[in-house]
Amino acid sequence: MSNLHYYYLIPIKLRKTYFIIFILSFYFISCSEKKKAIVQKPVKEKTIVHKKYGYVIDGLKVVTDTIANGESFGSLLNKNNISFAKVYEINEAIKDSFDVRKLRAGKQYTILYKDTIPEAFIYQQNKIDYVAINIKDSIYVKKGKKQVTVKERELSGVITSSLSNALDDQDVSIMVGLALSDIYAWSIDFFRLQKGDRFKIIYEERFINDTVYAGMGNIKAAYFQHGKQDFYAFPFVVDSTKNSFDYYDDKGKTLRKAFLKAPLKFSTRISSRYNLKRFISYYGRIKPHLGTDFPAAKGTPIISTANGTVIESTYRGGNGNFVKIRHNGTYTTQYLHMQKRKVKVGDVVKQGDVIGWIGMTGNTSGPHVCYRFWKNGKQVDPLKEKLPEAKPMDALLIPIYLKSIQDVKKQLDAIAYSQKQLDKLNEKESKPNHDISKN
Ligand SMILES: [Zn+2]
Repeated sequence: MSNLHYYYLIPIKLRKTYFIIFILSFYFISCSEKKKAIVQKPVKEKTIVHKKYGYVIDGLKVVTDTIANGESFGSLLNKNNISFAKVYEINEAIKDSFDVRKLRAGKQYTILYKDTIPEAFIYQQNKIDYVAINIKDSIYVKKGKKQVTVKERELSGVITSSLSNALDDQDVSIMVGLALSDIYAWSIDFFRLQKGDRFKIIYEERFINDTVYAGMGNIKAAYFQHGKQDFYAFPFVVDSTKNSFDYYDDKGKTLRKAFLKAPLKFSTRISSRYNLKRFISYYGRIKPHLGTDFPAAKGTPIISTANGTVIESTYRGGNGNFVKIRHNGTYTTQYLHMQKRKVKVGDVVKQGDVIGWIGMTGNTSGPHVCYRFWKNGKQVDPLKEKLPEAKPMDALLIPIYLKSIQDVKKQLDAIAYSQKQLDKLNEKESKPNHDISKN
């Protein structure tokens, strides 16, 4: 707590330096107290320290307890030097605005005393809402909400086995992992994260009275390094009338990517569509065509229609040279008859990346790419699939966007990875073979 307050006493220019020391201090603390490795920096702190439940508490005694089974408003007050006659008077005075029979065992209450005489009784309905019953002088009820403070938190992680593992012992809400997989749903296949992948995130955490965690707030920026590729994500409102935002990368490209219409850059001409009843004269019978054929000259680059991981890159029978890319838990695409393949299994590719070149390997009568579109393990017609919309950002907005993310991107880039996690990664890599003394 005191660390955070001193932070504001430091000139802005020195804050960064201080912040690094601050992170380091947490790192060292974390060696002895595992669960406390939290790097926090408050953004908005409006806590009024001398007030509680709307009362100035300087000079008052504040006692908080939990309502036990069988305890009532009357018994609690009576225990605290309030006569039953007075309790009756209070009940009568407030019954229209608050029914004291609603007090439930297990809930928290607070009594504010002046010396030994209660001045107010506060019933905590839930984490945020409370009812304050004023007893001293006049009797009345005040309903209120506890002060919610928002603290910014920076977090980083290195994947050694899984995302949840990387978030482990960092005292992180499960919501952070879910939020990340949601942001990157169309950019990164979270079931195919690789060892050594890493991430950073700047997000808000909400606290009641500075201490009680009340959930995750907004995500300000995120970064994922997956298969050596960078994936930035920044929220941005493109349509202020709609008051909704979307995530964009460091170039202003949307993360909500749909598939490209074609696996070729300059041609979307189709020579043969997906057709379950295609008649093939060569065979003299109907043979379904499960792909969409895009003809082009030999050597024309073939591009991945969406971000994903290469799961097959091989030569096999009628398919010839082909590449298969898994995009997420639902979609996989496949590109046949390549002259040459450019990617290998495990490569992470982005939408538009060249994965091979047009050829006529396998069963084909002319140079083309046969594009296969798999949904949940079945081949479907991509031209008939309802895919997520990927509206690019308006070109006019891009410079504004790029300017708006400048500072937060710098902040994101400056986040360090925990040495402990990096060590864990190296440990696992060097263990199987022989002992390498670390330097
Ligand atoms: Zn085909």
